[in-house]
Amino acid sequence: AVMVGHRVRSRRRWGRAVALVREFEEASATSVGRLRQVVDAMAVEMHAGLASEGGSKLRMSLTFIDNLPDGSEEGTYYALDLGGTNFRVLQIQFSGKGSMILTHRVQRQPISQELMTGTREELFNFIASTLKQFVQREDDGIDQIPDVRKDLGFTFSFPVRQLSVSSGLLIKWTKGFSIKDAVGKDVAQCLNEAMLKTGLNMRVAALVNDTVGTLALGHYYDVDTVAAVIIGTGTNACYLERTDAIIKYQGLLMNSGDMVVNMEWGNFWSSHLPRTPYDISLDDESPNRNEQARLSSGFEKMISGMYLGEIVRRVLQRMAEESDIFPDAVQNLSVPFVLRTPLMAAMHEDGSPDLREVGRILEDHLKISGVSLKARRLLVRVCDIVTRRAARLAAAGIVGILKKIGRDGSAGVASGRTKGKPRRTVVAIEGGLYVGYSMFREYLNEAVAEILGEEVAPPCLFSALLPAIVIQHYLKQMPSCPDYLV
Ligand code: BGC
Ligand code: MG
Repeated sequence: AVMVGHRVRSRRRWGRAVALVREFEEASATSVGRLRQVVDAMAVEMHAGLASEGGSKLRMSLTFIDNLPDGSEEGTYYALDLGGTNFRVLQIQFSGKGSMILTHRVQRQPISQELMTGTREELFNFIASTLKQFVQREDDGIDQIPDVRKDLGFTFSFPVRQLSVSSGLLIKWTKGFSIKDAVGKDVAQCLNEAMLKTGLNMRVAALVNDTVGTLALGHYYDVDTVAAVIIGTGTNACYLERTDAIIKYQGLLMNSGDMVVNMEWGNFWSSHLPRTPYDISLDDESPNRNEQARLSSGFEKMISGMYLGEIVRRVLQRMAEESDIFPDAVQNLSVPFVLRTPLMAAMHEDGSPDLREVGRILEDHLKISGVSLKARRLLVRVCDIVTRRAARLAAAGIVGILKKIGRDGSAGVASGRTKGKPRRTVVAIEGGLYVGYSMFREYLNEAVAEILGEEVAPPCLFSALLPAIVIQHYLKQMPSCPDYLV
């Protein structure tokens, strides 16, 4: 009787785990209907954010970039990219024609936890001295005149209130950064001061968000690029807008023409987003919540690499507490952010029939052993739910932009096609999650096509870093995609 009782209980407990996953799956559902509501909400919020300052959760920031490269640029340039996890210093030599880059030297430097949460002086001094060493090493004969001040492009992947093309105030930190004394400061000036102090004769000539840098690179390769999206540690998008549509700055912007608008879509929120109790508790406990805690950064926390593993961990923790499928794992699963997204992706993409890799990661990284195959399968399903939702929401965001600029096919013949020929729309996509996580990419690409429907040719989504094979799918439908992608 004891044996039977035990078996019944453990079966019930297994049932509990399955029920939790089912509930989670239902709460995460992203039917096309729901995604189209998100598309509409995104387009509406874009309008609202352009109409008045603070009119939307989408900041819709000016960038002062009204001109994008077209492949004819020439010369040697230095750039610095401060992202969510790394920073990179680069030297790039452009040939002057045919979108050809002659040399491309990069040094990647991880940023320590201490630097991410220390003082602004420590951060910028570290960046400036790394840059100085790089310039001294790479500056081999390209520029022999050390007295001439060099220009630097500074890609800064956080929300900034741009003052000019080369200056801007940090609005707030996102992702893992939290350097209090930098908030409200002009980050270009901070870097200029640090460079001066280390004796590096350089000045920030352009301060851009990473989405804007991606748009510029996309446009350099393909002038039909109209928008750029980052899906990495954080997520965001920018696009080319007509200046006369930027109503909130009508007095400021004289020119009629286009300007790149940085949406800061990580902060997007809509009641149509499929939000689960796990998202809510994550938001409550994350380092960068603000006054509107529950509603802030809804989109970023559902989509980007900083958070996906953490959502999975929260679901697993609950499963461990309420069932016995992860024996003795409650403790190990209760540490926030122990399950990093790259590990989650690796488990999700474990194609082996016995899910060997899942078992190995659980043991090596989470110190959880003895998880049955059945339980490992359930875990993979949780990863799939989280990633699929994230990718599909990002897809809805992209279509939202297309809708705002009349490229989603809804305006009919006039905007979708000219004289029977499809008008090309190219969206540049970058970021570790999109580039490095093929399941994510497939879900996103598939959802874009699904939302647009069969009538509309999907945009050409491309990443300059992606092997061309990935977008073969789009090439078939968009024969006018450029050759270099093949
Ligand atoms: C930042 C954006 C950035 C994005 C992608 C977000 O957390 O707020 O400015 O573009 O991450 O790096
Ligand atoms: Mg980056």
